[in-house]
Amino acid sequence: MPSFVINEKCDGCKGGDKTACMYICPNDLMVLDVNAMKAYNQEPDQCWECFSCVKICPTQAIEVRGYSDFVPLGSSIMPMMGTEDVMWTCKFRNGLVKRFKFPIRTTPEGEANAYSDLKGKDLDSYLLSTQEADGYTIPKPQETA
Ligand code: SF4
Ligand code: SF4
Repeated sequence: MPSFVINEKCDGCKGGDKTACMYICPNDLMVLDVNAMKAYNQEPDQCWECFSCVKICPTQAIEVRGYSDFVPLGSSIMPMMGTEDVMWTCKFRNGLVKRFKFPIRTTPEGEANAYSDLKGKDLDSYLLSTQEADGYTIPKPQETA
């Protein structure tokens, strides 16, 4: 289910150049109605349900309704960002509320190295980086005349 903005809670990020949800959406779906100062998802069909906008919104104005197998009707799931953690509040249909806290990152800001595990690997190889380790190799492509 795509994201949607709860109008009463959205303050348009107080009129900044770019709202937090516009900044974070990997698919550029969020836009701001400058007259109403309310954001909205301009193309819900394209929403990846990545929860990025939900997590970054400073007023908790965005929700992504979960699918019924994951979040049955009448329940809700809402993340709240801290500086170190994200706290997920899960409300069950019977009123039970559970909270789960996860660290936002495991490496200091700016220290992540996406290539560190590939040290010593032949990055020009046509094989996937794990293929040798699994003992599986695909045949070399045949040259065609
Ligand atoms: Fe509104 Fe939240 Fe988007 Fe800011 S991040 S414009 S408050 S929905
Ligand atoms: Fe964009 Fe992700 Fe929010 Fe969907 S859930 S509007 S893809 S940031």
